[in-house]
Amino acid sequence: MSDSPVVDTIIEQNVTPIEREDASPVMEPAFDPFSLLTVMKKNSRYVAVINTNVAAGQLIEKSTFVITPYRVNEPDRRASVLANNFPALPCACDTCKIMGPSIVVPSGNMMLIQHSRKSNIKILFDSTNAMINLYASSDLKKGDELFINYMDLYPEDELSQEDHFSDIPSMQNMDLDKRVMEELYNAKL
Ligand SMILES: [Zn+2]
Repeated sequence: MSDSPVVDTIIEQNVTPIEREDASPVMEPAFDPFSLLTVMKKNSRYVAVINTNVAAGQLIEKSTFVITPYRVNEPDRRASVLANNFPALPCACDTCKIMGPSIVVPSGNMMLIQHSRKSNIKILFDSTNAMINLYASSDLKKGDELFINYMDLYPEDELSQEDHFSDIPSMQNMDLDKRVMEELYNAKL
């Protein structure tokens, strides 16, 4: 058993991790990990606070992400456990409206931020680069606790889903999760 429930799930399912080795590796600049978060303990639970004063609209955290094969509304306990802890890929296609959006696992500090309907963070997906960028949605003072609302990402209508992408994928193909997955596969991220 590892420390990670996600890794344990992968081990249980006997999924071989993908190894990527290219004959002639090409190194190019991608991104510097970026975070303005400090992790504190509040009543012995991890919470994230902002470590500097920021203005509304300022970038506070960058994550990469992977899309899991689980959807939010699946009648599988593993899906509900994941859905309680991880964000979802915003998409308003018919499948996502019924089965729920695909659950994604972000890197970085994103999952240490407490959930609240009164969020002070705007979540923006950059599907081209497989990034999730978090922005302050109001002015914040150093030490302010951060709150995030993953329910914002669940399907309502097509237009509200566009709001969650910085590189709005073409609305001609409404199945955003399939599209993003194809892009990730093609980019071999
Ligand atoms: Zn969809």
